[in-house]
Amino acid sequence: MTSVSWVEVDENSGFGVENLPYGVFSRPGELPRVGVAIGGHVLDLAELSSTGLVEDRRCFASGSLNAFMVAGRTAWETNRARLVELLTDESYRERVEPHLIPVTDVELLRPFEVADFVDFFSSEHHAMNTGRIFRPQGEPLTPNWKRLPVAYHGRSGTVFPSGTPIIRPSGQRRTPGDPEPSYGPSMRLDFEAEVGFVAGVPSVAGHRVPAEAFRDHVFGFVLVNDWSARDLQAWESQPLGPFLGKSFATSVSTWVVPVAALEPARVSPPVQDPVPLPYLRSEEPWGLDLHLEVLINGQAVARPRFASMYWTPPQQLAHATVNGAPLRTGDLFASGTVSGPERDQRGCMLELSWNGQEPLELADGTERTFLEDGDTVTIRAQAPGSSGSRITLGEVIGTVHPARP
Ligand code: MN
Repeated sequence: MTSVSWVEVDENSGFGVENLPYGVFSRPGELPRVGVAIGGHVLDLAELSSTGLVEDRRCFASGSLNAFMVAGRTAWETNRARLVELLTDESYRERVEPHLIPVTDVELLRPFEVADFVDFFSSEHHAMNTGRIFRPQGEPLTPNWKRLPVAYHGRSGTVFPSGTPIIRPSGQRRTPGDPEPSYGPSMRLDFEAEVGFVAGVPSVAGHRVPAEAFRDHVFGFVLVNDWSARDLQAWESQPLGPFLGKSFATSVSTWVVPVAALEPARVSPPVQDPVPLPYLRSEEPWGLDLHLEVLINGQAVARPRFASMYWTPPQQLAHATVNGAPLRTGDLFASGTVSGPERDQRGCMLELSWNGQEPLELADGTERTFLEDGDTVTIRAQAPGSSGSRITLGEVIGTVHPARP
């Protein structure tokens, strides 16, 4: 793939022609439609298809990516190759340029309708740290952890696009040492820095999706912030999994990076010992060399690396469908908190502050154990792209607003 576009692209933006992530945008008074990011612009695919420059797909004149996501791998690859041609061949410039809109002139919306939402727990460092925090006397990892990718079903209806305000949730919690539970705003609001993938092509009930079929079903990747109210979560999750402590909000980036754009980022994942059951084995290495960065109020507080994740996306997909549950277009699978071995690689406040015992000092002199009202959390990520480039996963941002009375 040639790497030079006639569109002026800031080298550090990560939105060169090697990336071309899809999103849904609108302008005042206009219907939402599908676009692709290039440099500081959005290329309007609805307009482009109406002029015949890309294959006419009604799905681009749509308020979600779902219609394009269901079209399948051949359609995705054909469209991507055509976009590269249009954006690198100077002879198309005159006809394509009128359909470039400065990204600052548009509103970026939730890119797809989320069908189901599953959140995994696939970072060994995160699992070990939470195990040490909550079960100091026991083994940090539960006996199933290295046998299958542990997960819970989340709430698709509260998956919001980046920028959506996060209202501090209220609920029932019991503070340690207090014999009675009480109701009120969460006092332990947290973020979780994660990477998600979204399914495009559905599967048939009763048939599992093997790891090798990952590219046939999965459209692309997003960044995810799985907001978590630790006090609600701790009290309610006995003995079942997260419920209200997680279901109030999950934020996703507004750009969906195609699987093809991340091929150059594939690396060998950590060695799995014990060797997983055959349905979880994958011939290809599917670790991803994504460098995440978490900022609170603009200050970097963590730099987790996705390459250290124990379970890979194809393994997660194979596991999620092994019981024959069919995949639906828009199914979102998040990785679980991405954490590394170092303190500054921990992907949530629970770990960064060690459950509140080791407050984090911010540059303005204030301390954080968990999030305060007014705090803005930004998660971003970079990866190697083709031709030696760097590509960016669109950032996911959220600001904490006070609990409603
Ligand atoms: Mn999570």
